[in-house]
Amino acid sequence: MSEYNLETFSVEKAIELYKDKVGAILFVDANANKIKPLVKNGIFKDFVRDDFSYTDLIEKLWYHFNNSSQTIVEDYQVFIPTSGKFRDKYSRRVNLMIDDVLHVTQFMVYPLGDDRYLFFLDELDRSMFHDEEINNQINANVYLFSMYIDIARDTTSNISVTEISDEVVNQQLKYSEWRMMIVNMIAKEYQAQFLEETDPETLKKKYVPGQTCSFDCMMMNLEGVFIWVKLIFSRAETNNDDDYRFVFMVKNIHEDSVELRKTLKKYEHLASVDSLTDVYNHGRIETEFNNAVVERAKNETRTSVMMLDIDFFKGINDEYGHATGDVTLKHFVEILNENIKDKNAVLGRWGGEEFVIVCYDTPIEKAGELAEELRKKVAEAEFEKAGHITCSIGVTEIEAEDEMNKAFERMDSALYKAKSEGRNRVITR
Ligand code: GH3
Ligand code: MG
Ligand code: MG
Repeated sequence: MSEYNLETFSVEKAIELYKDKVGAILFVDANANKIKPLVKNGIFKDFVRDDFSYTDLIEKLWYHFNNSSQTIVEDYQVFIPTSGKFRDKYSRRVNLMIDDVLHVTQFMVYPLGDDRYLFFLDELDRSMFHDEEINNQINANVYLFSMYIDIARDTTSNISVTEISDEVVNQQLKYSEWRMMIVNMIAKEYQAQFLEETDPETLKKKYVPGQTCSFDCMMMNLEGVFIWVKLIFSRAETNNDDDYRFVFMVKNIHEDSVELRKTLKKYEHLASVDSLTDVYNHGRIETEFNNAVVERAKNETRTSVMMLDIDFFKGINDEYGHATGDVTLKHFVEILNENIKDKNAVLGRWGGEEFVIVCYDTPIEKAGELAEELRKKVAEAEFEKAGHITCSIGVTEIEAEDEMNKAFERMDSALYKAKSEGRNRVITR
C-alpha cells in the first residue's frame, strides 16, 4: 500500500515532495550575475557550485561540447550573456558531462520579472534518449551552426550551435551584432569576404526569394581549431519585396576540402610536368620564360635563359632503340637537375631532346658559366648503353625591351650557332 492516496494527497504534499525529487532549484539574479542554489540533489550537488555566477551556470549548462566537459574557446563565449535572457517560461534538454559521464538533463526557467528567474534542473534517464544522442552526433559533425535572420528587422532567431546541442539557443541578438561577433571566428584571410557576403545590402541584392548561395572559408570550431566550412544563406520564399528572411547554416566540409585541395594540387602538378622526365613541360616552362620577360620590363632584376639540345640524339635512337633514347633523356635531365638545384633556376622540356633553363637573378656572364659547367658535366658522364654524349647550348639574357619572341630567337640562334660551329659548345648572345 502506498503512503500516498487520492483522498489525502494535496498541493502542499506535492510541493514538499518536489524539494526531494527535483535535481536542483536555483534563484537567479541575471543583472547581478549571481545565483543562489535553494535545493541541490543528486548530480547537481557537485555540479552547481555555490560560487557560480549566472554566466558560469549558462556556460556549464550548454556552452560546452555534446560529449565532453571541455569548455569552448573564448571567442565563442561572447554568446553566453545573450543566451541567459528569458521573457517567458522556457524549457530545454541539455547533455551535461560530469566526470566524463554523460547526464541527460532538463531545465525549466520561470521568469520572475526584472531579470530574475527560478531554474529547475532535473536529470533524466539517459537510456530513453539513446537514438537522439546518435542523431545529434551525426548532425553535429555536418552542420555546426544554424539560425534564422531577418534583414529588414535586423534580427536573428533560433540560433542553434549544433556542435553543442541540436536545441535552439534562446537569444535575441541583432543580425548586425551577430555578424560582428562571428567575424572573429573567421580566419583572417577570409574576414573581408565574410563581411562582404554577409552585408545586409549584399544579401538583399544578391538573393531572389527562394535562392540559396554559399561560400567556403576557414572558421574556428569550438575547440579553437580552424576548419573548412561552407557558409550557406537561403532566402525564404515570399511575394513581398521587402521581406528579407534568410536561413543561415554553417556546414563542416573540412575533410572534403582538404581532400579536394590535395587533388587540385596534384592536377596542377600533373598539368605542369613532363611525364617522361618529371621536369616542367613545354607549357609551364614557356610561362616561366614569359613571366621573366614581363618582370624584366618592370624592374632591374636580370634573368637569363638557355636552351640545351642533345647532339646527334637521333643516332642514339637509331642505334640502341627508342627505350634507350628515353633512358638517356632521363639521365641527361638528372645531370642538369643535380647541377642547378642550388641555383635560382627552373628547368623544362621544350620538346624532344631540347630543354630550356630560366635562370632568375642571373646576368649573362654567370649564365654562360653555368652553361659551360652543364656542358662539361654531360660530356664527362657515362650513359647506360649510349656511353658518351654531348650537348650544345645557346644562352641569352632577357633585355628590358624584349618581347618573348625576341628573347627566344636570340637564344635559339645562339644554339644554332653552337651546332653549326661543331656542337658540344656554349654560345652566348
Ligand atoms: P642535332 O645534333 O642536330 O641536334 O641532331 P639530333 O639527332 O639530336 O636532332 P634531330 O632533331 O634530328 O633529332 C632529334 C631526335 O629526338 C628525333 C626524335 O626521334 C628524338 N626524340 C624526340 N623525342 C623523343 C623521346 O621522347 N624519346 C626518344 N627516345 N626520342 C625522342
Ligand atoms: Mg639534338
Ligand atoms: Mg633538337
